[in-house]
Amino acid sequence: MTSGGEICGRPATRRERCLALCEQHALLYEKAWLVHDAETAVHYLRQWLWIARESHNEFLEGRLLADLTAAEARRSRAYEEMEQARAAAGNSG
Ligand SMILES: [Zn+2]
Repeated sequence: MTSGGEICGRPATRRERCLALCEQHALLYEKAWLVHDAETAVHYLRQWLWIARESHNEFLEGRLLADLTAAEARRSRAYEEMEQARAAAGNSG
């Protein structure tokens, strides 16, 4: 650990819990949360979709399927953005 910057030695611009983060790692942290959000949405929408199918609620099933498709697309974008942010932050984090 270096003074100022946490993992990479760049100057810290932000603190998250006990971490001092440079601009690039703060962005990576944000993108990782977007991935987490999207994963959570996909997880629950799949469960609700299964329930809608089990209860033969076709209207709800249609709505949930559309939401799940959108959430999966959001998850793909979030992963891409996180990988870009990871590359920008360097290999150390
Ligand atoms: Zn950093």
